[in-house]
Amino acid sequence: MSAITSIVWFRRDLRLSDHEALLAAAAEGPVLPLFILDPVTDAALSGAQRLRLKASLIVLAADLKAAGSRLILRRGEALATLLTLIAESGARAVRWTRLTDGPSIARDTRVKAALKAQGVTAESHGGLTLLDPWRLKTGAGAPYRVFTPFLRALTQETVAAPLPRVRLAAPEGGIASEDIERWRLDAPMGPAAPALADRFRPGEAAARDRLDEWLDGPAARYPEDRDRLDRPEAGTGLSDHLALGEISPRTIWAALDRAGGAAGPEAVRRQLVWRDFAHSLLFHDPEMERENWRREWAAFPWRGENDDAERWRRGETGVDVIDAAMRELWATGRMHNRARMLVASYLTKHLLTHWRIGAEWFRETLIDWDPANNAMGWQWVAGSGPDAAPFFRIFNPETQAGRFDPDGAYRDHWLTGAGAETFRAMSPKDWRKAAHDERPAPMIGLKAGRERALEAWARMREKTGAVSAEG
Ligand SMILES: Cc1cc2nc3c(=O)[nH]c(=O)nc-3n(C[C@H](O)[C@H](O)[C@H](O)COP(=O)(O)OP(=O)(O)OC[C@H]3O[C@@H](n4cnc5c(N)ncnc54)[C@H](O)[C@@H]3O)c2cc1C
Repeated sequence: MSAITSIVWFRRDLRLSDHEALLAAAAEGPVLPLFILDPVTDAALSGAQRLRLKASLIVLAADLKAAGSRLILRRGEALATLLTLIAESGARAVRWTRLTDGPSIARDTRVKAALKAQGVTAESHGGLTLLDPWRLKTGAGAPYRVFTPFLRALTQETVAAPLPRVRLAAPEGGIASEDIERWRLDAPMGPAAPALADRFRPGEAAARDRLDEWLDGPAARYPEDRDRLDRPEAGTGLSDHLALGEISPRTIWAALDRAGGAAGPEAVRRQLVWRDFAHSLLFHDPEMERENWRREWAAFPWRGENDDAERWRRGETGVDVIDAAMRELWATGRMHNRARMLVASYLTKHLLTHWRIGAEWFRETLIDWDPANNAMGWQWVAGSGPDAAPFFRIFNPETQAGRFDPDGAYRDHWLTGAGAETFRAMSPKDWRKAAHDERPAPMIGLKAGRERALEAWARMREKTGAVSAEG
C-alpha cells in the first residue's frame, strides 16, 4: 500500500500519547501536525486560556520536533486553511479528535462534508472522554440525565487502555508555519500575564509528572482533604492539562487502576466520570452552555448584568470566603472545587444573578476552562441543571468556610497575606478596592439573601407548576 500524507488537526488534544487520530495517520504515512486558530476556537478562548494555550502549543511544538516532526500553526477559517494546506502538501486525509461543544460540532460537520466532497478522507476519532459521549444509554435508549446511573453504567464498561506514543515521519518539503508570538495570545491578560504563566507547568510530560507526584503523595489523603480549601494540593491539579488534552482521561484512568482500588484514586475516578457525564450532557444538548438545561428555568427571575456581579468578579462582596476565592481565581487561573460551588451559589442565589454571567467570568479567567464542566458545574449549583442540588439547599458561605477552612488559612492568605499581595500586583488599575485591604460591607445579609432567593424560587414554581423532583 502506498503511503498517504495526512493532516492531524490538533485542538483540545495537545499530546502525542493515547492519540487515536495521530496513531491512525502515522500508520498510513507522513503526518502534518496542524493547529488552526480559527474563528470558532478564537471565539471560545478566554484571556487566561489563551495564555495557557500558547504555553501548551510551544511545548507540543518542541515534543513534535523531538519526535522528528514539526507543528504547523495557521490562522484562518478552518476549512479554507485545511484546503490550502492540502494543496501545499498533497495530503489526502485529515484526522482529528472529536469535541462535544455545539460550535465545534457544527464546524467539524461542515468541514467533514466539504472535505469528503473533494475526495479527501476526513475522519474524527475518540479520546476526549473515557467513552464516546453517545455510548451510554438508559434501558429506554435515551442519554442519561442523572449522574448515579451514568456512573453505574460506565463502571460496567471497559475503558480502553491508552494507546502508545506515536513515531512520526515528517512530510517532505518546507511547509510554512506562522509565528506564535504574532498571535499575541498573552495580550488579553496584560501585565498579569507573566505572573499567571508562572502558575502552571504546560505540556504532556508535566501532566504525567503531576499525576505521578499525586499518586505518590496526596492521593492517600484525597478523600479527607479534597474539600479543604486550605489544602489545595489534595486535588490532582490535572484539570488544566485535561482541558487542553495534554493528558488523556484514559491515561489517568489506567494509572488510577494500577493503584488497586485505594480510596483516593477511586474517588478521582469518580471525578473523571463526572467529566464524562458533563461531556455527554453537552453533546446531547449543545445549547447547554447558554440555555437552562431544564428549560422551564427560563421563568426564574435571575438578574442580568448588575453592580453586585461586578463586585463579585473583583472579590469585593464583603463575604470573606467568596472574596478570597475570587482573588484566587484572578491571581492563579484556578479555583478550588468547593470554592467554585460557594461562589456560584452566592452569585446565583444570594445575589440572584444569572448563572450565565458567572459561567462567562469563569470562561474568561480559568486556565482549566472546559465548556462541558463549566456549563454543568454552574447549572448544577444554580438549580437549572441535571441532577442539580435542590434549589432550597443554599450554601451559607460562612458555615462552609468554618468547615472547610477551619483555621482561616485560605481566607487569610488571599485577604491579608501573600496571596493578597499577589492579587494586588496583578489587578487591573480600576479595581479600586484591590489597592488596599479595607474590607467592604456585604451587599446583602446572608439570611436576607437566602430568603430573597427562596421567594424567587417559590414565584417561579407558582408560574410553572412543580418544576422537578428536586426543585
Ligand atoms: C461552578 C463550577 C464551574 C466549574 N468549571 C470547570 C471548568 O471550567 N473546567 C474544569 O475542568 N472543571 C470545572 N469544574 C469542576 C471542578 O471544580 C474542577 O474540575 C476541579 O476543581 C479541578 O481540580 P483538580 O484537577 O484537582 O480535580 P480532581 O478532584 O483531582 O479531579 C480530577 C479531574 O476530574 C474532573 N473533575 C473534577 N471535578 C469535576 C466536576 N465536578 N465536574 C466535572 N469534572 C470534574 C476534572 O477534569 C479534574 O481535573 C467546575 C465546578 C463548578 C462547581
